[in-house]
Amino acid sequence: MAYTVYYGTLVHSVSLTELEIIKNGVLVVDNEKGVIVHVEKEVSDLDSFLSTTSFQDAKIEKLGSEQFLVPGFIDTHAHAPQYMFAGSGMDLQLLEWLESHVFPCESAFKDVEHASEAYTKVIERFLLNGTTTCSWFATIHLGACKKLVDIIEGLGQRAFIGKVNMDQNAPDYYIESTEASLDDTRAFIEYVQQKNNHLVTPVVTPRFAITCSTPLMKGLSQLANQYNVPIQTHLCENHDEIDFTCSLFKDSKDYTSIYDDHQLLNERSYMAHCVHMTDDEIKMLADRKTGIAHCANSNFSLHSGVCDVRRFLNQGVKVGLGTDVAGGFSASMLDAVRSTFFASKTVKIMHRDGPLKDKDYAPLSPAELLYLVTLGGADVLGLKDQIGNFEKNKAFDALWVDLENGSIDLMGGETMHQKVEKFLFNGSDQNLKHVYVQGRRVAGKA
Ligand SMILES: [Zn+2]
Repeated sequence: MAYTVYYGTLVHSVSLTELEIIKNGVLVVDNEKGVIVHVEKEVSDLDSFLSTTSFQDAKIEKLGSEQFLVPGFIDTHAHAPQYMFAGSGMDLQLLEWLESHVFPCESAFKDVEHASEAYTKVIERFLLNGTTTCSWFATIHLGACKKLVDIIEGLGQRAFIGKVNMDQNAPDYYIESTEASLDDTRAFIEYVQQKNNHLVTPVVTPRFAITCSTPLMKGLSQLANQYNVPIQTHLCENHDEIDFTCSLFKDSKDYTSIYDDHQLLNERSYMAHCVHMTDDEIKMLADRKTGIAHCANSNFSLHSGVCDVRRFLNQGVKVGLGTDVAGGFSASMLDAVRSTFFASKTVKIMHRDGPLKDKDYAPLSPAELLYLVTLGGADVLGLKDQIGNFEKNKAFDALWVDLENGSIDLMGGETMHQKVEKFLFNGSDQNLKHVYVQGRRVAGKA
């Protein structure tokens, strides 16, 4: 059959503040392309509606009364190898934790067989959690990076994948020369692009300025331009990191300017964390059309600080959410939503009781949270015209949510908005009956 018709409740974001709930919705997917070809609202009689269309022979998928479709979750920042130790080392702060946990773990990915086992587990887990798109940091090793791409292709996730670069301030056992770093990055980009699979995109990935020399960052900027690929890195995560970084690049005005001075900020770039930023730095991101990956769990877990997402949204900066596994201990974007909620409430409390003074400060609403984990993430990755909600001609990346089977108890009488909120705050992977990427079922409980 050429088409699949999904019939039931559709939930998606239309804008930052506007959550649309479509009852008795019809969503038609072209099975070959995995693309949404038609959306119809308020269809009371499916058979009579279909009889007026060219979808009469379509496969019909009817959602139950306590089920709905929501766009797939988008994780704009995660470290695939670090899933190995997710949930440990949470007593440390960033720079200590890199030395004790991250570098020893990542260096083991020189062994491609080891990488293959670990990467299969992490991609399967993310898909089970409904992360249909993820932007990954891998390691410095070309062979293991290629293996990660192959595994992601096989399992069907939409992904941005980066070979990590570091040619300074890293341990002897986990460092590369500037030349090797650039050569391997070029080889990695070509390896991914030659696949001609639009679900996988190479992303230039300097770990952060501390581990990257000026010649390396300039070379990476040139590669990103030459191959027209995105750039991801970390920015302004914690105070010690910021002080150390600025001491290494004294010619730049501030941390954000270091990346700007190395031509790494553009409309295809996105920066993880951005916890401690001046107004000038936020304006620079807005001017360069560079997005941010807000990783609230990680910011709490490594006690880096509390990022005020509202400041970025008010300046027109693109914002998506990230798990930052394993700085963040959870692989679930539902956890990222809840951590983002707590960060936003913490800023509200700081305004009310603490040093900040805006008594009218508005914490993020449930509608805004859903936007950030779907359409906002798509915007950060430059995919807003392809994924993020249920518009015609977008890819069918979706979660079939079942409220009656899983971790939610319905008490009766809840409005549809309350049910969506319950899913965001009480739901889990157990509520995901099916997970689709580009029309293909890639995971799910049923
Ligand atoms: Zn990170």
